[in-house]
Amino acid sequence: MARLRTPSRRASNRLAAKSRHHLWYPFTQMAGWNREPPLIIRRGRGPYLWDQEGRRYLDGTSSLWVNLHGHRHPILDRAVEAQLRRIAHSTLLGLSHAPAIELADALVRRAPRGLNRVFYSDNGSTAVEVALKMAFQYWQLTGKAGRRKRLFISFANAYHGDTLGAVSVGGIDLFHQRFAPLLFPTLKVHAPYCYRCPLGLRYPECGIACLDQLERTLAHRKDEIAGVVVEPLIQAAAGMVTAPHGHLRRVRELTRRHDVLLIADEVATGFGRTGRLFACEHEAVSPDFMAVAKGMTGGYLPLAATLTTERIYRAFLGPYTAFKTFFHGHSYTGNPLGCAAALANLKIFDTEHTLAAVQSSIGELTQALESIATLKHVGQIRQCGLMVGIELVRNRRDRAPYVPSKRIGFQVCREARRRRLLLRPLADVIVLMPPLTMTRSVIRRMVEIVGRSIQAVTG
Ligand code: PMP
Repeated sequence: MARLRTPSRRASNRLAAKSRHHLWYPFTQMAGWNREPPLIIRRGRGPYLWDQEGRRYLDGTSSLWVNLHGHRHPILDRAVEAQLRRIAHSTLLGLSHAPAIELADALVRRAPRGLNRVFYSDNGSTAVEVALKMAFQYWQLTGKAGRRKRLFISFANAYHGDTLGAVSVGGIDLFHQRFAPLLFPTLKVHAPYCYRCPLGLRYPECGIACLDQLERTLAHRKDEIAGVVVEPLIQAAAGMVTAPHGHLRRVRELTRRHDVLLIADEVATGFGRTGRLFACEHEAVSPDFMAVAKGMTGGYLPLAATLTTERIYRAFLGPYTAFKTFFHGHSYTGNPLGCAAALANLKIFDTEHTLAAVQSSIGELTQALESIATLKHVGQIRQCGLMVGIELVRNRRDRAPYVPSKRIGFQVCREARRRRLLLRPLADVIVLMPPLTMTRSVIRRMVEIVGRSIQAVTG
């Protein structure tokens, strides 16, 4: 294969100027952003990314939580290339294609029991939107009593995406509060944030008492409640907030007892990131809906899916004139290139025994993190598989946070970048989400850089 030549400094400058003039970046305060030239990534291989000028960086957050097997994995590359030679895109509205069919079958075979219908979309937010709309319509279709069930319950600090339905069930004020007038009403319940327990209790003595509020709400208002939306095991965007063991299972028991649908948002946790293919497996939970995206294509292409049960699916069946159809679908729904990548992704899990290998990466990461747990401003390290949040605090004893204007998390990540590790913080929580297949030495080096960066910033 021909080697990529490093572009000249002039070419890089030209790109940076165009970026400055025309590009509006997501989740980015553009006022400060343009003071420095953007870091422009040109290529990747394994856990590494190279910038325009040929500098190599470690991809510490898997290119925003999507990459699984490293960049340029030959099986994924070949699968996309092979599909490209057939066709790049054809619609699922009125037509079908083999990759979508094969992938639906492959997903169902691996998903929690009972989830045997697959509805495609193209990102995590839409996968959640689809679940919300399906759950709502399901109850509308079940008769008069069901039609009252229109409310959704979600957790404080939850993040389910940026489209307005997903924002409605979100709970991060910084992102969501601005849009409150546009949102549909939802009921919010406590987050399982043990480090800053909303009830001031301690786990395990608390018996996960934060869920009592959910229980009460369901008991009193079940006739109005369509569903509960949960990020299983870990609230990712909240700052990698890990739920105590048993939390998800109890949410499932409560929703089942009160005949309310459970939507598991596995957008961040799906495809091995927690050590199992899906986080729900850790607590033997089968939800009524499961939203997946991000890692679904191994981090190659935008593709998402909402899986659901036969019970839900059947409620939508009927003569056309009964208008039970689910009127939803995007132009690129079930894109063949994405489906081909997703199939190859699952194949790699089988042929490379990824889930077995992940167990040792998780152990390695846990061990490496011990070296930074004692740093003066590390409040708590939370880990769920290969998802890690390091919460930095001004004062460990009373857990006092830094004032937001200090932007400590941002500064630590800037330091890490100088040391050639790419990270993106969630406020003052440093996030690590390496690809599933990082070697032992790379994991150690990544954590070492994190430790040094934290020390450099917090003294
Ligand atoms: N749900 C969860 C749990 C997520 O973490 C995210 C993205 N971080 C989303 C939904 C939204 O996914 P997307 O950005 O692909 O729309």
